[in-house]
Amino acid sequence: MTRTALLCTAILLAGLTAPTVQAHDQHSHTTERPAPEDPQLTVERITDNLHVLFGPGGNIGVSSGPDGVVLIDDKFSRNAEEILYHVGQIAGENDELLFVINTHIHGDHTGSNPEMAEAGAMIMAHENVRIRMGESYMNKAFGRMNEAKSEDFWPVVTFTDEASLHFNGMTARAVHMPAAHTDGDSIVVFEEPNVIHMGDNLFLGMFPFVDVDSGGSMQGMIAAHDKALSLSDPRTVIIPGHGPITDAAGLREARDTLQTILERVQLRFEAGDSLEAILAAAPLDDMADMDGFIDRAGIITAAWRSLGGAFEGASAE
Ligand SMILES: [Zn+2]
Repeated sequence: MTRTALLCTAILLAGLTAPTVQAHDQHSHTTERPAPEDPQLTVERITDNLHVLFGPGGNIGVSSGPDGVVLIDDKFSRNAEEILYHVGQIAGENDELLFVINTHIHGDHTGSNPEMAEAGAMIMAHENVRIRMGESYMNKAFGRMNEAKSEDFWPVVTFTDEASLHFNGMTARAVHMPAAHTDGDSIVVFEEPNVIHMGDNLFLGMFPFVDVDSGGSMQGMIAAHDKALSLSDPRTVIIPGHGPITDAAGLREARDTLQTILERVQLRFEAGDSLEAILAAAPLDDMADMDGFIDRAGIITAAWRSLGGAFEGASAE
């Protein structure tokens, strides 16, 4: 399929009214990029046409084939050169970047948007990603502002409920997950070869970040797990936003853990306990091995806020 036909298909499917997009006629020639001097990323092959880039920031899905390359997320700006190097290594002569689908707004998933657009990609995401990138708003969880991003980060193709890409003889569906990790999250379902990229609706083996300040909720994250499970079978490969590749059983375990956390906090919330009292009761101490970027206090607070509990906000560190 030609690039223009592909783009038009995507725009039709996304139900758009003439987005401001520029044609990228130049080929990125990423095959000519030198190997990185200080490698930060590692590559894992799922199939010949689907790979995952691990390393700093969110896990990147790399879908390749005769039409070119589609990336799911693009880590940080400092990783851009190395991402493009791996795209060239994986895709060879067919390394033309078609799209980057941002699973959500966070900077560890969208940090290379300007570099990927410069290399030829159309950036695509749920419409709330574009809206929030244009605004500055308070992040109470960390006690600081989320500053608006310059326009070169913004998605140029947006959708509301769902958009499908048809390329390389397969279909990839970006499906919006309302009020989940944020209010602009999508999971990406590769119908062939039966792979789901969860974005940050799955942190495997660690407490997840639930970004209530960006419209997220723990109930929505659990619903996102359920939606992905409904689309899975025992052979489905599940790519989390953070953590190693898993399967439907791993996804179900993560879902049940979140449900347990929410129920334990909800029980005390409904009994009238304050957030401070719940934190003091340490209801998640049997899950200490899941402490990481988000610790037990962080996930209890996220559950509390998801239930509608008042929260004045952390002080900036
Ligand atoms: Zn995130």
